[in-house]
Amino acid sequence: MTSPRRSAFVPGPEHHRIVVLTGAGLSARTGLGTFRGPGGVWDLEPELEAAMHAGRLPGSIPQLWSVWGRMAGIAAAHGPTPGHRALARMGAHVITQNIDGLHQAAGSEDVAELHGSALRATCLDACCDWRAPTTPGPGERAEDHGVPAACPVCGAPTRPDVVLFDEQLPATDLDLALELARSADLFAAVGTSGVVFPAAQLAPLAREAGALTVLVDLDPPSQAGPRTGFDLVIEGDAHEVLPAWERAVNGVAQRSFLDPFGS
Ligand SMILES: [Zn+2]
Repeated sequence: MTSPRRSAFVPGPEHHRIVVLTGAGLSARTGLGTFRGPGGVWDLEPELEAAMHAGRLPGSIPQLWSVWGRMAGIAAAHGPTPGHRALARMGAHVITQNIDGLHQAAGSEDVAELHGSALRATCLDACCDWRAPTTPGPGERAEDHGVPAACPVCGAPTRPDVVLFDEQLPATDLDLALELARSADLFAAVGTSGVVFPAAQLAPLAREAGALTVLVDLDPPSQAGPRTGFDLVIEGDAHEVLPAWERAVNGVAQRSFLDPFGS
């Protein structure tokens, strides 16, 4: 069964509520794409990847500050991509697997962050509600990131608010993601595999609720298509596809020459 593959699709006037699930591919051009890949930090320093497992807490906290602080620093230095900016400008609701804060930096609000945020600290005690924004950059100590090493509420150690292997996704963000998927009339997955969690769950959910579902990928998996919950598969660069969608949504024939951040 062949998948429908179209590149000419843009949202129409019937799409009032656009919900987009984003993954690492959207942030790849900031330099984060090489973080995990071949020759990336985890390849060169495999002990750091081992530290990403929940079972290594609390001894791994210095490595967590180091890794996520560096990652947040790379993202902050580059800033949002054309894809991030287009999503914010078209008023899309965002569900993201990324922890780099670039959707908020682009102006998106109420982002469901399924994997947490490298720009936020939390308490090691999962029952404690303390959270605080961090300062991106190097350093193995909480203080290097602008937060205290001990939780001001309960005294437990603080840590980056990033979901580790073997940790559950944050319930509030997961609930928001499910609610957004159910309420979409256009649901797209961008920069993330369309065939594994969470796209594999969210796209069918959105589709059942009546949304048109679209996968945007430079190199879509061959099995992506109607059977995995996507009505359309667009083989293309998110940084070209999403600005075209934004122009369609906002009724702009071509990008303004006054826009210094345009694609
Ligand atoms: Zn605490």
